[in-house]
Amino acid sequence: MDEFQLIERYFRRPAPGGAGVEVGIGDDGAIVRLPPGRELVVVVDTLVAGVHFPADMVPAEVGYRALAVNLSDVAAMGAEPAWMTLALTLPAPDADWLEGFAAGLWDLAGRHGVALVGGDTTRGPLTVSVQVLGHLPAGTRLLRGGARPGDRVFVSGTPGDAAAGLGLRSPGSEAERRLRARFLRPEPRLGLGRALAGRASAAIAAIDVSDGLLADLAHICEASGTGAVIDEERLPLSAALIEFAGRERAAELALTGGDDYELCFTLPPEVDAHDLSADVEVAEIGVMTPEPGIRLRRHEREVPLPAGGYRHFGDDP
Ligand code: ADP
Ligand code: MG
Repeated sequence: MDEFQLIERYFRRPAPGGAGVEVGIGDDGAIVRLPPGRELVVVVDTLVAGVHFPADMVPAEVGYRALAVNLSDVAAMGAEPAWMTLALTLPAPDADWLEGFAAGLWDLAGRHGVALVGGDTTRGPLTVSVQVLGHLPAGTRLLRGGARPGDRVFVSGTPGDAAAGLGLRSPGSEAERRLRARFLRPEPRLGLGRALAGRASAAIAAIDVSDGLLADLAHICEASGTGAVIDEERLPLSAALIEFAGRERAAELALTGGDDYELCFTLPPEVDAHDLSADVEVAEIGVMTPEPGIRLRRHEREVPLPAGGYRHFGDDP
């Protein structure tokens, strides 16, 4: 199978209706049409085998993940994804691997109407780089620097699950299977991001949680020139995580574990989180403060941050 057969077989698909693709795969570059009044949002993420995923990871999970991490960034900007490009470096054109990879990629792309408009295929150590282009109405972007003291801090979903699922290579119980699925198939929170962008006149800050809640909230704090206080008992812990890890360790995983791809965001006091009508639950977990740094409270009493709070979670199960 040469490069061109490979592209034809696995990656050329008709663009979804209304995708605005003028020129897709097959020419020197793609040409896309941005809907009127909208701004372009561009994100890219590279996954290197042995660094960002185990070399023997199921190929469908690699394909899903390569797109999911990008869609999560698009969600955190408040944008709608539309197009993607794929730069694929392969040691050899392995049909089984490509079949699985493409299935995982197209599964998620299909659900969000993302068209693959081009890419590059090269030989070398397994590396997958996906770029996503999306758009949003001008002036509605969600930036990290949008938070003010007194704004409330929220997180979507149940953080900590993915970090617990990372080490569960052969899950036994139902709870373990759930945690593993949260790690393998993170759900980019595009509906929530768009709902937040619809309220952006209210200066909302947002970030997607890839490195851990504390670490990513710290980026909002830095960009906004604020600090934050988090109430540990308000963390939205899943039943599966509590069953697997116990309440104390579950809270630690929710604060420091990575790979959740939930959204952490702030809302000014006057905006009601209940009218967001998003596709995922959100929980209020704390408040932004004028003084810098993140502090943790347990039932009104300040407690030390878990060790490694700001560091990457790494491989510790
Ligand atoms: P060029 O020689 O102009 O760089 P290529 O031969 O690399 O073009 O690619 C031919 C066409 O196939 C281009 O339109 C390119 O965007 C597309 N393409 C190459 N690799 C991929 C891929 N992995 N996924 C999607 N499209 C691809
Ligand atoms: Mg090329």
